[in-house]
Amino acid sequence: MAGDAAAAVGIEPRVGGLSVVHHLSVAWIALGSNLGQPDQHVRQAFASLADIPGVQLLARSNLYRSAPVGGPPGQADFCNAAAAVATMLSPFELLTAQNAIEAEHGRERVQRNGPRTLDLDIISFDSLRMTTQRLTLPHPRAARRAFVLLPLAEISPALSLGRAGRVIDLCRELDARDMEHW
Ligand code: AMP
Repeated sequence: MAGDAAAAVGIEPRVGGLSVVHHLSVAWIALGSNLGQPDQHVRQAFASLADIPGVQLLARSNLYRSAPVGGPPGQADFCNAAAAVATMLSPFELLTAQNAIEAEHGRERVQRNGPRTLDLDIISFDSLRMTTQRLTLPHPRAARRAFVLLPLAEISPALSLGRAGRVIDLCRELDARDMEHW
């Protein structure tokens, strides 16, 4: 408790102020949509992320248009973007909150890589590395995806995606011909 820490060093603990400070992390989130009005879903998602208790939006990228990768033929182009947040949540709590936002946007998981109203992925969370059934960090496919890396490079070029290296270096190796500003 922050109050205990203050008392331990001889400072009068604050009463009623911001006396409890949890561990603060920085997370990087990729946003994508290709159903309905994709840009509207992405713009609203920025606001929804900022509304999660314990989350503060630090940065948001511009919106990009990208051709779909994999999935069924003929699906619409995606609108993609990236966000940086400061959060007191754990990675699992953040993922749960993101899944709730996806659900609010009518997200249905019908088909792998299929069309979606909103997709929110955690690309990186501090410098955590973890592989669990529910969450892999850094995101295992981010380093190969122009639609993740390009928006991310705008807000954090020096971000390191574990062994894959820095976002800016990964961007230099990319084929981003299918991407343009929204
Ligand atoms: P998708 O349907 O493409 O959004 O994939 C979501 C699934 O990937 C969920 O079951 C998540 O639990 C899992 N997952 C694993 N790692 C991540 C991550 N870094 N960010 C978001 N979802 C993840």
